[in-house]
Amino acid sequence: MRVEKKNILHNILRPLLNLWGRIQGISGCLICGDTWNWKKPHNVLFKRNVSAFPTCEECWQTAPKHLIETATHELGRKWILQSPSEHLKETLKDVRLLKNACEKELSVSRGKTNE
Ligand SMILES: [Zn+2]
Repeated sequence: MRVEKKNILHNILRPLLNLWGRIQGISGCLICGDTWNWKKPHNVLFKRNVSAFPTCEECWQTAPKHLIETATHELGRKWILQSPSEHLKETLKDVRLLKNACEKELSVSRGKTNE
């Protein structure tokens, strides 16, 4: 009963919190769509002192590996689209570094097999 109540509250609050985040222009998880104003992101350190978060901690732990890879790919695509042309070379390098870092982290936490 207690858990049910908590879920109902979560189901009502979640869209409101996400809406509030979107209004403020806060981005969110590329799998579940929850925004960073309330959801804990999963940090992927991809170069010295620089990290990115393609997904939230919850999705990183529970989502199938291929979905996380798709989210990482999507984040890289966003970076490329937003990159000024004079920084494109640097951006492409960052995208590659991010993909490698995600791949490495996933293979450590999930093992070599898919899923
Ligand atoms: Zn998520």
